[in-house]
Amino acid sequence: MIEKRQFYINGAWVDPAEANDHNVINPANEEPCAVISLGGQADTNAAVAAAKAAFPAWMATAPEDRIALVEKLLEIYESRNEDMAQAISIEMGAPISMSRQQQATSGSYHIRAFLEEARKFEFAHPMDEATPGSWIMNEPIGVCALITPWNWPMNQVTLKVIGAAIAGCTMVLKPSEESPLSSMLFAEMMHEAGFPAGVFNLVNGDGVGVGSQLTSHADVDMISFTGSSRAGQIISKVAADTLKRVSLELGGKGANVVFADADEKAVKRGVLHCMNNSGQSCNAPTRMLVQRDIYDQAVETAAQVAASVEVGAPSEEGRHMGPVVNEVQFNKIQDMIQKGIDEGARLIAGGVGRPDGLNRGFYVKPTVFADVNNEMTIAREEIFGPVLSIIPFDTEEESIAIANDTPYGLTDYVQTQDPARANRMIRALRAGMVETNGQSRGNGAPFGGMKQSGNGREGGKWGIEDFIEVKSVSGWT
Ligand code: NAD
Repeated sequence: MIEKRQFYINGAWVDPAEANDHNVINPANEEPCAVISLGGQADTNAAVAAAKAAFPAWMATAPEDRIALVEKLLEIYESRNEDMAQAISIEMGAPISMSRQQQATSGSYHIRAFLEEARKFEFAHPMDEATPGSWIMNEPIGVCALITPWNWPMNQVTLKVIGAAIAGCTMVLKPSEESPLSSMLFAEMMHEAGFPAGVFNLVNGDGVGVGSQLTSHADVDMISFTGSSRAGQIISKVAADTLKRVSLELGGKGANVVFADADEKAVKRGVLHCMNNSGQSCNAPTRMLVQRDIYDQAVETAAQVAASVEVGAPSEEGRHMGPVVNEVQFNKIQDMIQKGIDEGARLIAGGVGRPDGLNRGFYVKPTVFADVNNEMTIAREEIFGPVLSIIPFDTEEESIAIANDTPYGLTDYVQTQDPARANRMIRALRAGMVETNGQSRGNGAPFGGMKQSGNGREGGKWGIEDFIEVKSVSGWT
């Protein structure tokens, strides 16, 4: 078993102040795969003190020197993609092929996109010609607490760490206690790249321990948090006492509006997207709204596609769905599927229980419900598992009303071959991101939500600005 009890503080791996072992469970077999330590107040204090001490020099480092270190990091990260893919696969159950192609590579994708933005980012610029000497300085906020979830570990870690580092902030990363191995490997890479001691620190811990110690710490200037809306609410309240800057990336309940004129692959694409990463994505299109004219056909297609999704061990090569992350999540998903049945939705694929032949491990059946209405629990709550709800609608107005009738506002999707309708929908949907007809939003596009999905924007220039304090000066020569 892997033993990794140390934390990365002030440029070195150090023992925790007090022993507090925590087993990381491999969701594929429910066995411990690693032992780490959960930190306490003394570890949190040491990491914050290191970040605070390193801040003045890091802030004063020329942006091109900070960028050069990120370039070095990218080189190292890419050379260790396989190690990263293996770590993520073991800790959170992503099938190894998917872990290589999507999970691990999401990190290099973000580092590269940040580098492009960083090279053109204006750290200082004049106000305008009419007011000579008036300048805008984009300065780092200071010491940042970066708190991440387990579902796309390197996606979230790189979005935060690289945005903060380029801005000139120093930081303490607390990864999810479910997925610490990938973050510890990332810390090794930061060390090898040569970031100065104290710029980047890592302390493992849980939410009530290191998480809340960081969010209430007097010397932390900003919290960048990705996780559940419930934890986001608690963190916002705690942060209010010290008036820290808080950037939140929270849950979602995305609508995927499929009009009668959608392309023929739209339904299949929507089902597979919902099941990707075993449904554990904040931007998963979990509510498929289908126009009545094509409803019966869409339901049939969705049932067939879900039935064709194979479920298997993460260690096996190929395209299939792995387990969900842990027992709590497994039980929550089972309860949700039962609720769907009890509240009268029509089960057309999957259901409660494990898939045939997978009796050990947190495996869930790819599940689809038809005839869902938007008041049902499965349409309102984030399930975070491979469960799709299909909801019929008649008119465009009705689809907008249903799509927006949710406390969340992260990502919505539109499938139509009518460009005028696509444009109207893009305007009408209250979400931080809208994707049409399966098109990607492009490199470096901002990621973030509205309403209870949060207030942050990560990636690209917005992901640097999230860590920036704007200073307005006069008399600059
Ligand atoms: P979670 O909220 O339980 O935990 C996330 C992180 O916060 C973990 O590191 C955890 O230890 C820590 N934490 C928990 N309570 C805390 C507290 N009171 N104070 C400080 N830290 C605390 O979420 P999770 O189960 O790890 O992740 C799944 C959730 O994350 C889903 O709701 C998902 O939608 C959301 N998510 C959002 C995005 C996005 O960009 N919007 C991306 C990925 C995941």
